Amino acid sequence: MALGGNALIRKGQAGKVEEQFENLKRPLSQIARLSEEYRIIITHGNGPQVGNLLLQQECCDAVPRLPLEILVAQTQGQIGYMIESTLDNELMALGLDGKQLFVTLLSYVVVDDKDPGFLNPSKPIGPVFPEDVAQKLPYPTVKTGKGYRRVVASPRPLTIVEKREIKRLIDAGFIVIACGGGGIPVIRESRSFHGVDAVIDKDLASAKLAEEVGVDVFVMATDVEGVAISYGTGEERFLDRVSIHEARYYLEKGEFPPGSMGPKVEAAIQFVERCRKRAVIASIDAIEMAVHGNAGTEFTL
Ligand code: ADP
Ligand code: MG
Repeated sequence: MALGGNALIRKGQAGKVEEQFENLKRPLSQIARLSEEYRIIITHGNGPQVGNLLLQQECCDAVPRLPLEILVAQTQGQIGYMIESTLDNELMALGLDGKQLFVTLLSYVVVDDKDPGFLNPSKPIGPVFPEDVAQKLPYPTVKTGKGYRRVVASPRPLTIVEKREIKRLIDAGFIVIACGGGGIPVIRESRSFHGVDAVIDKDLASAKLAEEVGVDVFVMATDVEGVAISYGTGEERFLDRVSIHEARYYLEKGEFPPGSMGPKVEAAIQFVERCRKRAVIASIDAIEMAVHGNAGTEFTL
């Protein structure tokens, strides 16, 4: 279950902690109910949170600045904590507290130091700025559906370092919260890892994790009901089902922009093609229905 950034911060909100806790109730009440029927791995985005941490430290010269990889690690902690405590309350409401165990795992994700993403930053993070403000910022920005946002490098995930640990925890009955913010990006150097300045797309990292752990259903929950063609125009049409062949055609036609719907569709195609299992893109409000095949856009072979 990959939760989009809007599971925590909805459009138009400043992103106060109280708002984030409140927003998390929607997805986590559904996940708590599903946990009676399914073993679940939760992954999540961190775009607004990691961008805010960057901004916060740029406002302060009294202490050394932290590289992006450390900020990603921080967001795994802060969001993991918020998901855990909300999940705990929701399980309690169902009388499942103590029966259903859960854990948040810091996760590294290996990337290639020669990934073209390092030369061509594409991942929007942090707050949305109006055009005139964006033009004066000291770093590159990109125009998104919501406004202008900072962009950073987003290399492709090659493998999840903790995949065996996650599988063991799942097999032992835990709900696992992992690969937060797409994972801490690391490069492998002989037998050790070191972090790099980037933010991995959480949908692509989640697809990789889904594949490596071998899940039956891969759900990406976001702030739209599913995948549309001619999105945002008079011709807009949401798709109930789409074959990966057709999805690839629309992707190449530019129906799904990079940094938002593009990586979700790519993640779904990759998972269905390699694993021949179900992938669904759905609204955060319809997670349960999507799992049961009654909402969202389902990708088929
Ligand atoms: P998340 O935080 O869940 O990853 P994103 O903002 O990255 O959310 O991606 C979801 C957004 O993709 C939607 O809010 C919508 O505005 C945008 N989008 C772009 N193209 C499409 C499309 N063809 N169909 C549906 N949504 C689209
Ligand atoms: Mg996204």
